[in-house]
Amino acid sequence: MEKTIKLYDTDAYQTEFTATVLSCHPVSGEDKSSSEVLYKVILDRTLFFPEEGGQDADTGILNEAKVIDVQIKDGIITHITDSPFHPGLSVLGKIDWASRYSNMQQHSGEHIMSGLIHSHFGYDNVGFHLGSQAVTLDFNGFLEKEQLDMIEILANDVIYRNIETIAEYPSTEVLSALNYRSKIELNEPVRIVTFPGYDVCACCAPHIKRTGEIGIIKIIDSFRHRGGIRISILCGSRALMDYRNKQKQTDTISALLSAKPELIAQAVERLKEENFSLRGQIMDLQDTLTELKVAQITEDTKDICLFESDMEASTHRKYVNLLIEKCSGICSIFSGDDASGYRYIIASKTEDVRPVNEMLRQQLQAKGGGSKEMVQGSVNSTKNEILSRFQL
Ligand SMILES: [Zn+2]
Repeated sequence: MEKTIKLYDTDAYQTEFTATVLSCHPVSGEDKSSSEVLYKVILDRTLFFPEEGGQDADTGILNEAKVIDVQIKDGIITHITDSPFHPGLSVLGKIDWASRYSNMQQHSGEHIMSGLIHSHFGYDNVGFHLGSQAVTLDFNGFLEKEQLDMIEILANDVIYRNIETIAEYPSTEVLSALNYRSKIELNEPVRIVTFPGYDVCACCAPHIKRTGEIGIIKIIDSFRHRGGIRISILCGSRALMDYRNKQKQTDTISALLSAKPELIAQAVERLKEENFSLRGQIMDLQDTLTELKVAQITEDTKDICLFESDMEASTHRKYVNLLIEKCSGICSIFSGDDASGYRYIIASKTEDVRPVNEMLRQQLQAKGGGSKEMVQGSVNSTKNEILSRFQL
């Protein structure tokens, strides 16, 4: 079969096309649980960009059929559709332009970033993924925050300059003398995408005509990855949506904290300090309360089993230590509630408490352990279930 004519190669801005169906077969080996039958459709030509070079495929329609995925192998492009076509039929194809244009913005942004990082730091782009949400770029060298900030500013400067981009198939002679990224020895023509003055790279994907169309390039995340760095970027409309989401978050936090949006970080800092100090006060109060509770227990108490709402671990331990000074038998304190379970400490000055722990483990699947004098653990049971096992 002839290679599919790539209409997107010559005009990235065309959204509709007509083509002839060359073949159509049901997709074999598909998920039997799904009632939907999918078809592999091969056309003589197409505007649908297939999944290639790290970029997701275009979506859209062929006549009434949905194009769910597009793949390429040996130059032949296969459309995965939800209805069949007769070979020889002329079809009208429409690509989802919003998604394609966004991909063009992201992909062109990626070339600018990669070109700048290569020219300033000498690192190569060794990985690229352009999905429906995230755009990630991997480089074989690490960049500090300040270096990324600088690249981001330079990249946006390329946008403001509104430079015309060029996608072409240079002759073999021109190509062999050309210095470009992603250089690979191929027996077929190599498509070169140029951002004059900033980047020259072999690439098969559709790009924007002028850099101004990218709108903005924003780095939203970066981390060390395989000895280099992985950078997430958003361009154009995706960056705008991200800005909107983040502004919404900021506005909500700002209203909740009654702080100006530009001061929310300080407000959260204050809130954390306040929270820390309140926690300290709660611990002091819990300590005082436990002392008072222990003071009320009569001197001749032997075994005791108490339930308390969630208390700090240190208070829990102090409570038990106070109790064993007063009670002659086994002291058990369960801290928590029926819904989320209990943490327990069981101690005694006179008896081995490990059998009690073993009983909880066996009967209520508690998790815990310890010494003859003290065991601790947790159990996902209700107060009544626990009490029924303690025949005190
Ligand atoms: Zn590319």
